[in-house]
Amino acid sequence: MSYCLIDGKAIATQIKEEVKEKARILTEKGTTPCLAVIQVGNDPASTVYVGNKKKACEFCGIRSLSFELPETITEEELLSKIDELNQDSSVHGILVQLPLPKHIREDAVIRRILPEKDVDGFHPINVGKLCIGEEGYVSCTPAGIVELLKRSNIQIAGKECVIIGRSNIVGKPMNMLMIRENATVTVCHSKTKNLQEVCKRADILIVAMGKPKFVDASYVKQGAVVIDVGIHRNAEGKLCGDVDFDSVCENTSYITPVPGGVGPMTIAMLMSNVVKFME
Ligand code: NAD
Repeated sequence: MSYCLIDGKAIATQIKEEVKEKARILTEKGTTPCLAVIQVGNDPASTVYVGNKKKACEFCGIRSLSFELPETITEEELLSKIDELNQDSSVHGILVQLPLPKHIREDAVIRRILPEKDVDGFHPINVGKLCIGEEGYVSCTPAGIVELLKRSNIQIAGKECVIIGRSNIVGKPMNMLMIRENATVTVCHSKTKNLQEVCKRADILIVAMGKPKFVDASYVKQGAVVIDVGIHRNAEGKLCGDVDFDSVCENTSYITPVPGGVGPMTIAMLMSNVVKFME
C-alpha cells in the first residue's frame, strides 16, 4: 500500500509566512512583535535551538532579544531578569531555553514568566486553560501536531488516538488537544501493559517516548496515521525518530519523517504564539 508523507517543513513555512504577514501589519500599525530568548550556559544543543529560534524570528519580521547568561548565574538573578522582561511592554513573549543548570529550579522559572508572555505554554495558568478549553498559549510541539493533521486534511473527530508518552511538554498537552478536537484518546507510558495491542487500536498514533526507532510495524494498524515526535542523532550524526520509519511506513496512510516532520513545526508554532494575541 502506498503512504503519504506529511511535509512538516512545507507546512511550517506556510505558518511562518502567515506569521510574517501578521507581523508586517502589526509593525505597520506601530508595534513590532518581540520575543526575548534567555539561554543559561552554553550547552551546544541549546545553542542550536536558540539560534534556530532567532533565525525564525528574522524570517517572520519578529524582533528577537537574546540574553546569554553564564552557567554560574543564581536563580535569584535569573528571576530578576525575567521580572525586568515581564515589565517591558515592548516584549511580547519570553522564552527560557530548557534544560537549566541543576542549581536553578525550572518550575520556579516557568512560574515567574507572566502567563500573558509565556509563549512556550508551560505556565500552570496556560496548562490549566488548555485543560478547561479556554484560550491561552499551548505548548508548541503538540500544537504543531494538530496543525500538521488539520493542514493535511486528516480527520480527527471520532478517531481513536493513541499517544505514547505523558511528558508535560508533549504527551499531556497532546492529550488535551486531541480531546478538544473530539478524538477518543488513550495515553500510554512506561508502565502501560500490552503497548503493542493498545497502539494497534489507533487510527492516529502519536509517538513521543524518546526511544530511537522503538515503534515498528507490529504497533501499527493498517492505514493508521503515524506522527513521530522523537529526535535522536546516531553516531554518524544522522537523525532518526522514535518510529522505525522503514518498518512502519507501508502500514500507514500518512506518516511524518524525521527530520522534516514534527521538528520544524515546533518553531513555527512558537512564532505563531508570539503574535497570537496581538492586535
Ligand atoms: P520524556 O522523556 O519527558 O517522556 C517520555 C515519555 O515516554 C514518558 O512519559 C515515558 O513514560 C514514556 N515512555 C518511555 N519509555 C516507554 C516505553 N517503553 N513504553 C511506553 N512509554 C514509554 O520525553 P519528551 O520530552 O516528551 O520527548 C519525547 C521525544 O520527543 C524525545 O525524543 C524528544 O527529543 C522529542 N521531542 C521532540 C520535539 C520536536 O520539536 N520535534 C519536541 C519535544 C520533544
